[in-house]
Amino acid sequence: MKRILVTGGAGFLGSHLCERLLNDGHEVISLDNYFTGQKRNIVHLMDNKFFEVIRHDVTMPFFIEVDEIYNLACPASPVHYQYNGIKTVKTSVMGAINMLGLAKRIKAKVLQASTSEVYGDPQVHPQTESYWGHVNPIGIRSCYDEGKRVAETLFMNYYHQNDVRIKIIRIFNTYGPRMHPNDGRVVSNFIIQALKNQNITIFGDGSQTRSFQYVDDLVNGMIKMMATGDDFVGPVNIGNPGEFTIKELAENIIGMTGSKSKLEFHPLPSDDPLQRKPDITLAKEKLNWEPTINLEEGLSKTITFFDKLLKENG
Ligand code: NAD
Ligand code: UDP
Repeated sequence: MKRILVTGGAGFLGSHLCERLLNDGHEVISLDNYFTGQKRNIVHLMDNKFFEVIRHDVTMPFFIEVDEIYNLACPASPVHYQYNGIKTVKTSVMGAINMLGLAKRIKAKVLQASTSEVYGDPQVHPQTESYWGHVNPIGIRSCYDEGKRVAETLFMNYYHQNDVRIKIIRIFNTYGPRMHPNDGRVVSNFIIQALKNQNITIFGDGSQTRSFQYVDDLVNGMIKMMATGDDFVGPVNIGNPGEFTIKELAENIIGMTGSKSKLEFHPLPSDDPLQRKPDITLAKEKLNWEPTINLEEGLSKTITFFDKLLKENG
């Protein structure tokens, strides 16, 4: 049994990770400031005597004795990370410094939830870890993209200078139950719109692509990455290489929900990446990992979740 700290533990991904780690028999501590996370995401875990919940902001130092740290604290959807861009940068950068300092002091392993956004609007397709990216440093997405890039830099420097046991994963668009209904991400938006028979809001002409990964596949990848030896630090892409246009995603969701929704086109936000697809050769080789849940199966579970949520909330 390990003692494991999950920052951002009350968020969409963090809550799934806490649940899986508890099921695997570990002691888990969730640290969260509830900016985008919610207690309802973890309330079902609170009866577990090996689960502890702490309200704290990662921009402030935090001391605890643990074996492993998963650093997920950071708003992840454009609506939320652009709400207070300065705070987003601070969360990524100060959060990384605080968690790396903690890991150094207690000799814990620390895993950074980085992102495919470090590739920006990529000019290499699919994206391999060796690609340096194409990020606008002063655009509306930069508080998130550059914050995450600096966090990677800090992780590598603590590794080289201080021998901290680091792991970096670059997560590609992930979806599933417990996504925040108001966070504006495409999968949750389209499912909610379809279930309510409202127009589906497509930004741009819908020809931009994304590769959607179901949350359980990601959690497997995270745990496999944490379990690798100290000589493998990443970064490693964790995503599903199945690539879909946003219009295809909308049509799939309309079909699966039997919705009467129509497509409604809106202007494309600036710096919105035109294509995104992970090359997962490295994850296959080093982690023996690849996703197992296809889009239809994952969407079906996610639709069931939002259908229940909407019925509960009238
Ligand atoms: P989320 O918004 O649901 O979760 C983030 C959690 O961090 C929330 O619970 C929030 O309250 C908490 N948080 C935010 N700022 C904090 C702070 N200053 N101190 C303490 N807690 C704070 O988002 P998510 O989708 O679960 O993303 C989790 C992590 O994974 C993020 O770091 C994100 O960048 C990364 N990621 C997610 C995706 C994705 O598709 N979901 C893709 C790439 C990377
Ligand atoms: N998008 C859309 N309609 C929406 C929400 C998002 O067409 O209601 C588009 C968005 O412009 C982007 C893609 O879907 O091209 C994915 O958006 P999301 O915010 O989910 O993730 P990210 O852009 O960070 O990959």
